[in-house]
Amino acid sequence: MAPDTTGRLWVVATPIGNLDDFSPRAQQVLRQADLIACEDTRHSASLLKHFGIAARTLALHEHNERQVSGELVRRMAEGAQIALICDAGTPLISDPGFRIVHAARQAGIVVSPIAGPCAAIAALSVAGLPCDRFVFEGFLPAKSAARRARLQQLDRDPRTLIFYESSHRIVESLSDMEQVFGAARLAVLARELTKLFETVLDGPLQELVQRVSTDTDQQRGEFVVLVAGAAEEGDAARLAEGMRVFELLRRELPPSRAAKLAAEITGAPRKALYAQGNASDAS
Ligand code: SAM
Repeated sequence: MAPDTTGRLWVVATPIGNLDDFSPRAQQVLRQADLIACEDTRHSASLLKHFGIAARTLALHEHNERQVSGELVRRMAEGAQIALICDAGTPLISDPGFRIVHAARQAGIVVSPIAGPCAAIAALSVAGLPCDRFVFEGFLPAKSAARRARLQQLDRDPRTLIFYESSHRIVESLSDMEQVFGAARLAVLARELTKLFETVLDGPLQELVQRVSTDTDQQRGEFVVLVAGAAEEGDAARLAEGMRVFELLRRELPPSRAAKLAAEITGAPRKALYAQGNASDAS
């Protein structure tokens, strides 16, 4: 990379678990930066040390971003190369950085991304849910009433929904999703991506709630929850027809076999038929 003499803000993605995901270009930009603005300087110190990066660091987090941004923009206007990193993944994505990026662009400073890991996109890439249209919702509210209200707003959204969640609330959040979106809505739970205990579970929400609430190992670590978008008119009609056929077949066959045949006959998703059948049995 040729030395750059004009000021610039580099928005640099760092690994979300596996250090081998730290790109050579990201390392080089951090090495050459005049200053690295870190969400948490102590947290980033171990990453920087591991890669032998000795640049100066400064804390830029949600509580000081407003004050610090002005000073950093002034320094970039004078020619400084500043890199922005967060604790893990891509800055600004449920992390600090929006204010400084906005302020830098307003001041006419070039802002360049050093693309790399992002938990939401990593999860989406392996979920097996439609990716042509998706919506990133970040963290849901911590309190159940507010969380359900937010989920209600999303209930009819046909796009794949992506949420971040912590280990403290994963069971509650999945249960609220089951309540609001229904037992049969397909979802994917992507846990500890790129790390030793990486697990990607998929199935109807009812099945995921059952699995995670009865297995404490599945409640540990960091999570991305993806939920299939609401069925659009054609899908809803297919599911209704699938359920009708499933109910008929179930009189003669075990539920799993009935769901498989009903799915083959109507094109409705097998797991959704099976889960909806179980849910109506339980109610
Ligand atoms: N900026 C980060 C990114 O690009 O993904 C996200 C930061 S946000 C504060 C942290 C949340 O991201 C975690 O609570 C979890 O929901 C998700 N996350 C981060 N790393 C993850 C991983 N390795 N596996 C699954 N989810 C992860």
